Amino acid sequence: MVKKAELHVHLEGTATPELVRELSGRNGATIDPATFGPDGDFAWGTFLEFLTAYDRAAAVILTKDDYRRVTYDYLRRCAEEEAIYVEMFSSPDHAAAVGMSYTDHLDGIAAGIEEAKADFGIEGRIIVTCVRHLGPERAEAVARQVVAHPHPLVVGFGMGGDEGAFEAADFAPAFTHVHQSGLAITSHAGEFGGPTSIRDTLLHLPVQRLGHGVRVIEDESLLQEIASRKIPLELCPGSNVATGLFDNRSAHPFKNLMEQGCVVTLNSDDPPFFKTSIGREYDAAAQHYGLDEAALTQITRNAIAAAFCDDALKEELSSRL
Ligand SMILES: [Zn+2]
Repeated sequence: MVKKAELHVHLEGTATPELVRELSGRNGATIDPATFGPDGDFAWGTFLEFLTAYDRAAAVILTKDDYRRVTYDYLRRCAEEEAIYVEMFSSPDHAAAVGMSYTDHLDGIAAGIEEAKADFGIEGRIIVTCVRHLGPERAEAVARQVVAHPHPLVVGFGMGGDEGAFEAADFAPAFTHVHQSGLAITSHAGEFGGPTSIRDTLLHLPVQRLGHGVRVIEDESLLQEIASRKIPLELCPGSNVATGLFDNRSAHPFKNLMEQGCVVTLNSDDPPFFKTSIGREYDAAAQHYGLDEAALTQITRNAIAAAFCDDALKEELSSRL
């Protein structure tokens, strides 16, 4: 089986319905039955309903040990699919919403990463994210926490949330503060926002990669720029189809972006919500884009090269391919 690496996945969005039910039972946290459909999976139709289901599921992750559990469980599933490296987005704002401190939240995730490495040999690293629609002040507060509490497993800073909220430039102080401390930067752009959102992000934020960036396909000159600057794209075809950005995997421009020289990677984003996984993304790419093992391994190489971990780990990971 092809070895895999993942750069774009939201930790709270990795918890399976089974794990969410288990945690809610253990914590005595009631969860709205509407979160699940008749098949037991997460139930949602529109993108807003997805966000509601996501928040309900995330609200049962209440303690440091819950974060350890969620992280370990996700990495175990990734290792079963031959993933050797996962960079995951942590969200201190989600943790704060349930009363957890930044350091407890981080320590829980780190414990899950260490345990999964010991049991399965998989390597995990953390990208701390702010939430765009919570605004620049909240983002700066998260940025200050990241810089004040350096952690060996935290390798980057990023931003998710509603891409239509605020301007990229509003977040420049937060991103610059973290970048100056030595951490690498990514940001969601070009998913629900178009090429302008990508241009603004490249212009105002010190990003080394783009989260999604898929809508660069709508702008030929921007596409040439991203390809020639070799800015890696964290592409998530299954997620984009699930949220209705493209009608199906064949209509997704993954192959086109790859052929035009973009540095592409495959990612699951929020796997159980989108009925996907890192393994399914690779399998679907083989099936729909006609990629053979060598092409899929090149995608893993792209991800390792674009990873925010140190060079020694990159070399070690490359030697495992
Ligand atoms: Zn995402």
